Amino acid sequence: MDYRARRQKAYEQATALGADALLITHVPDAFYLTGFTGSNAVVVLTKRGATLFTDGRYIVQAREEARGIRVVIAKKSALLEACAAVAAQNIKQCGFDSDHTTVAMLDAMRRAVPAPRRRSFFVKTPALVARIREVKQPEEIAKMQRSALLGCRLFDELLPDISPGMRESEVAAKLEYRARIAGASGMSFPTIVAAGPRSALPHGEASNARIPRRGFVVLDFGVILDGYCSDMTRTVYVGSIQRDEQAAYEAVLAAQENAVAAVRADVSCGDVDEAARSVLRREKLDRYFTHSTGHGVGIEIHEGPRIAARQQQRLVPGMVITIEPGIYIGGKFGIRIEDMVRVTEKGSEIMTPATKALITL
Ligand code: ZN
Ligand code: ZN
Repeated sequence: MDYRARRQKAYEQATALGADALLITHVPDAFYLTGFTGSNAVVVLTKRGATLFTDGRYIVQAREEARGIRVVIAKKSALLEACAAVAAQNIKQCGFDSDHTTVAMLDAMRRAVPAPRRRSFFVKTPALVARIREVKQPEEIAKMQRSALLGCRLFDELLPDISPGMRESEVAAKLEYRARIAGASGMSFPTIVAAGPRSALPHGEASNARIPRRGFVVLDFGVILDGYCSDMTRTVYVGSIQRDEQAAYEAVLAAQENAVAAVRADVSCGDVDEAARSVLRREKLDRYFTHSTGHGVGIEIHEGPRIAARQQQRLVPGMVITIEPGIYIGGKFGIRIEDMVRVTEKGSEIMTPATKALITL
């Protein structure tokens, strides 16, 4: 599906909701619909076609990247000029993404519309493009697979570099340097390197703390390649591991593998979460599993669907989700293992094949 087909699908869904125009203000959605990578982008879809509004920094880039659609360089506000332009057409109702619009933005958007039509002009079409983006197309899967494999390669290359006494930030720097050399435009999110007792912090961004002589090191990172994020976590051990730590690692791995095995079309996200949680419950470790099992990933690092307890949403072939159970025992240690998993017609496929057997350094 090319950009035009994506826009067509979004527009059709908007019309099914009673709107005859759609305003796209979330930049990743604008990228999905046009290919434009600038940081200021508003897209308007009507039956006449698509228009991209941006600003003077992107005159050349917008025309180059967003081929085949009208580009308007706004003098002041791309958003307000887009609203005024759509209101100037014979449009009755314009859908907008209420998930990414502040109250102040909506007030300003309304003021850009002539007073008599102002009140009923904008209608909520929450997450309309976000829901389309949940199911990846083959060309997106191909990009995501390259992004995921680069993550795996970087992990393998990083291992010999990790040693006691090094700062977590140094480990992150080596990883990120190699990522950029390999062509990544950036990291999907601030790299997590959490060593020793800091591994018990589920979001332990790499700090100035040093890698201890003995303990777990949680490495959670992703690269952005060709506009698509990867996301993976491996937990390694520095020094000689204790029996209880080994048992905890095996439990998290069993939970992770059980959840991966549960991934297939038509299964509810809640059931996938439960597949991870039930294993940790059996090991009496579930109270240390303090977050959900996973999330969709794609142009953004966190997308739908949410793989969390009681989530009714069902998996669909083409979805790419993470499976990342973990346990966090305050003051002692933490362990998390995360893969990207693709939902296929037949079942699922792991996109991050780096080894999950415990690595001791
Ligand atoms: Zn992650
Ligand atoms: Zn994740």
